[in-house]
Formats: sequence, structure tokens, C-alpha cells
Amino acid sequence: MAFETFFGNESLKNTILQLIRTRTLPHAIILEGEKGVGKRTFARLIAAGLLCEQTQAPCLECSICKNVLSANHPDVLYYETEKHTKDNFKIDTVRAIRDIAYISPNQAAYKVFILAEADLMNSAAQNALLKILEEPPAYAVFILLCEKKSAFLETILSRCALYRLERVSDALAFEAVRSLLSGPTEEEINKAIALAGGNIGMVLESLRGDETLRANEKAIEIAGAVLSSYEFDLLKVLGELESSGAKALLYALAEPLKNVFRDAVAIRCGGEALIRLNEDIAQKLAAALTKKQLFALIEVCEELKRRIQRNMNQKLLVTWLSAALTTAAEYE
Ligand SMILES: [Zn+2]
Repeated sequence: MAFETFFGNESLKNTILQLIRTRTLPHAIILEGEKGVGKRTFARLIAAGLLCEQTQAPCLECSICKNVLSANHPDVLYYETEKHTKDNFKIDTVRAIRDIAYISPNQAAYKVFILAEADLMNSAAQNALLKILEEPPAYAVFILLCEKKSAFLETILSRCALYRLERVSDALAFEAVRSLLSGPTEEEINKAIALAGGNIGMVLESLRGDETLRANEKAIEIAGAVLSSYEFDLLKVLGELESSGAKALLYALAEPLKNVFRDAVAIRCGGEALIRLNEDIAQKLAAALTKKQLFALIEVCEELKRRIQRNMNQKLLVTWLSAALTTAAEYE
């Protein structure tokens, strides 16, 4: 499997793999690249490569690889700033890293430290880090992630091997998005790529944002239709969800829809709306329906999620949802 799951950056992937397999990866690495190009993912793949015990490391299948990639391996330590602002990678964090670095690994032959946003260290923090980089324990590997290596002191740069992650081609970005998201149409993906270029992280972020927005809007529309005494309104709103392409949207709207009903319950009980997706609708629902009916509607949303996971036929699912919402709203 190696690094095949990571899109693009072929020559860097080959270089790193070669170093991992010949056990010659430097003890300190700077991984540079703009936000969204996959520095964190790539760092975890490197860590998996170092720790995985299969011949084709990283195999991405063994429990070691899986634990590293899901951030559950005790010998891969990950650090990130709290505020993502300049100087926010604190000297105290660096000192803590130093203390931990001198304790032998728990299970693996390596102990890998991933320092995300390492370029947000001030010079005092960098000097503290330098002390570890000058005399690293044999098992320690430090991967420093940054947007611009120019933020580092010369002394740090001279101790590290420098690698750079680049954007990928538009075609590859398209392929990446297709394999990761099922919701967006071809046109929407192309539009996002036109804006963000081959920065897969940015493309995904903008599409996920769109998807959330669409799901929220649809949830409010459905809640509004539940209020209407014309069953036709609900059928009309839900009708657009009958195509199999709307599956992701239907799944995404279950949670916001539930939140609208939950807010209505909170208001009905004399409290305040907590989620505030749409307070106006929540107020109207609270005024028109009983607590029992609102709880029944919340349960419909939960059941919707379960039914989607069971992979029901989309058209039947929408028919069921329409009937279930109507029944819940009339529940006595
Ligand atoms: Zn493995």
C-alpha cells in the first residue's frame, strides 16, 4: 500500500519511502507546505512507515499502521498550538517534548514526534528545541510541519532535512475529492477546484462547507413543512431527495433537523434554544406542537440515520420519512 493513499507528490513519496526502507531517514525533518496540502497526513504516513513491521512498510493494514493513522499509537506523539497564531508554540511544550523524548519508546523501535505549526515557535522555543535536535536519542524522529521554513532559525534549519509538499494537478484533485466525498456533483467539484487549485484540503473544506450549508437549509425547509397543515408541502420538500444522488444530503440533514426539534423542546420547556440553527422555526414548532410530538420527531431523525446506514432504497426511505414525520407531528 505504501503511500498510495496520498495523492500526488510522487517524487517526495519515493524519496521518503526509500529512506524509511533503508532505515536512513534523518532524525529531524522539516515538512513545508501551504495549509491544506496534507502535511499532517503525510507526517502520520511517515510515522507508520517507521513503525510498521511488514516488509512493504507502511502497509496501512496492520494494527500498528491503523493505530498510528488514527492517532492512537503511544510512540507517535503529536503537538499543535492552541491558537494557531505566531509564537503560540510554547517553550513549555518544547520542554515537555524534551522530557518525553528521553524516555524510551513503549512498543516500537522509534518514537516519532510530529510538531504541527512548528513555525509558530519564537526563538526561545526554537533554541530549546535545538538542544534536543543536537543530541537526539537514537530512537527519536522529529517531524516539524510548517508553512514557511523561513520562520526557523538558521541553526534549526542546519539540523533538519527539508522536504516540501506541493499542490497536485486539477485532475488528481478531482480524483481525490471523488474518492472522499459522495455528495457534490461534478460541476460543484470543478468549481471548487477552480477556486482552490490542486490544494486538496482547501477543495474538501469548501465542498464540505457547501454541503453543511445545503443540509442546514434543507433541514429548516423540512421543519417548516412539518408545521404546515398541508401534507402536500412535506411531500414537495422531500420529493427533491428521492434521487439516489441525494443520499449524502439526506444523511447530512438528519442531525441539523434533529437539532431544530431539540431546540423546540428546549423552548417548550421554558428554556432557551441551544443550537440555534433557526430560532424562528424552533419557536413556531414549540408553539404548535406538544413535547411528546417533538420528542417523537427527534426519534424520527434518529431512525432516519439508522435506516440510511442500513442502505435502504432512497425512494422508499423518503416515503417512510414523510409518513413518519406526519405521524409524529400528530402524535397524541
Ligand atoms: Zn503496517
